[in-house]
Amino acid sequence: MEQHSLLPQLRALLGEPHVLTAVSDVEGYALDWRKRYQGSPLAVALPANVDEVAGVVRLCRAAGVAIVPQGGNTGLAGGATPDGTGTQLVLSLRRMRRIRHIGIADRVLVAEAGVVLAEAQRTARDAGLLFPLSLAAEGSATIGGVLATNAGGTAVLRYGNARSLCLGLEAVTASGDVWHGLSTLRKDNTGYDLRDLIVGSEGTLAIITAASVALYPQPAARRTAWVATQDIAAAVALLNRARDALDAGLTGFELMGRECIALVARHFPALRAPLPVDSSSWFVLMELSDSESEAHAQERLEAVLGAAIDAGEVMDAAIAASLQQADAMWSVREHIPLAQAAEGLNIKHDLSVPVSRMAAFVDVTEQRLRRQLPQARLIVFGHLGDGNLHYNVQAPAHGDAAAFRTDHEKACNDLLHSAAVAHGGSFSAEHGIGMLKTAELARFKDPVALALMHATKRAFDPENILNPGKVLPPGHPA
Ligand SMILES: Cc1cc2nc3c(=O)[nH]c(=O)nc-3n(C[C@H](O)[C@H](O)[C@H](O)COP(=O)(O)OP(=O)(O)OC[C@H]3O[C@@H](n4cnc5c(N)ncnc54)[C@H](O)[C@@H]3O)c2cc1C
Repeated sequence: MEQHSLLPQLRALLGEPHVLTAVSDVEGYALDWRKRYQGSPLAVALPANVDEVAGVVRLCRAAGVAIVPQGGNTGLAGGATPDGTGTQLVLSLRRMRRIRHIGIADRVLVAEAGVVLAEAQRTARDAGLLFPLSLAAEGSATIGGVLATNAGGTAVLRYGNARSLCLGLEAVTASGDVWHGLSTLRKDNTGYDLRDLIVGSEGTLAIITAASVALYPQPAARRTAWVATQDIAAAVALLNRARDALDAGLTGFELMGRECIALVARHFPALRAPLPVDSSSWFVLMELSDSESEAHAQERLEAVLGAAIDAGEVMDAAIAASLQQADAMWSVREHIPLAQAAEGLNIKHDLSVPVSRMAAFVDVTEQRLRRQLPQARLIVFGHLGDGNLHYNVQAPAHGDAAAFRTDHEKACNDLLHSAAVAHGGSFSAEHGIGMLKTAELARFKDPVALALMHATKRAFDPENILNPGKVLPPGHPA
């Protein structure tokens, strides 16, 4: 590994400490968050600025070495992990952590790719504004990573996903050129939208080195409620009732199955759900943001919940009396993936279907899964407001989780992905394709769209050095 002629060139460019090769130094970059993919990188390069990124790309191109861009390494589809050949370079953006600019009048933040999402949120907050992208990995996920995966999270319902928050990009192309596209404009209809192509391309079209993102006003007040609903149909009825009454004020609407709450209680006993876990099979966490006052927010939320109780949609509800209580409710929701990880390996799905078909979808798939795997635990939660469910299948309690996953993953994927598509949905709502779902892409994507995606990849990266093997299934006809 030390012998590769690229390494001294990288060290000359970046400085000795910023090219890692020792196994103990690279191991944190070689394994994905889910511990599903163990890669073996040639080295990890840590450039400090855009010129160094461009220099690394030029060196790699000349040496024929593939590059795997990496941010916080929290992605859930294996997109940031090198393969096992020992020939791919991980290019980590972690040293590029500068907030370049915050424009109050333009409501814009310009941040380098390695800025951690929570830091971007904090910077906006300190300036009296809001960067609304929010997800449970925000303490580690980076601006470059959330854009490269077009991440969603808990505020998509009101503010859209990462793509809709992105105004401009600075990116390094596969030839080592820098695209200076850090626009702060809301309108710029000047041909093909390269920004929107690169956002969501998971490091396969270009390396994002900085981004300009839109900021919003901070709401004057927030109210959060934890709600026990009759069933999923009732949760969807509550969603539509809340949308009608609160319009853009409805900023969060999360669904959680009872098993999810039980799992959090088991692994994080300090976190308490506000209603007894046995009081329903399905719970909703909903958030209202209000531009007037606390009293106005409370009144509006109580009115929606009161009407939903009268209509029989809601059995019980607790409204947070303080910001701390609201944070505690969100904390339970955000700890579901962590509790699942603590419980052991499981079969994850990230599905979307139109909300109008959600109840039927869960009903049909639950029946089929219960027939097929009667002992399995279904850990179903997600962003119901966006029609997005994390529909995870966990091994029976005290079972062999690894063997369960190996034995049943393919059948579970087949069942749930086909059912989602049959219900007008998607097999990958927000986590992307990475290397996890390339076969599913080949199976479910419209063939014309797939051919255009291959052509786009060839146009951006004709030598296939940017994250090869990710997103696009190999072997597709030219
Ligand atoms: C506990 C937990 C909760 C999560 N919740 C959500 C959620 O609610 N919604 C959601 O959408 N996702 C969620 N995720 C997934 C993950 O956090 C997001 O995909 C996030 O956007 C990844 O950011 P990252 O910086 O960690 O990227 P990485 O994991 O490092 O990389 C992800 C992909 O982006 C590419 N990439 C990274 N940086 C760059 C760059 N600068 N230029 C080009 N390509 C790049 C990589 O090659 C890879 O393909 C969650 C993950 C965890 C662990």
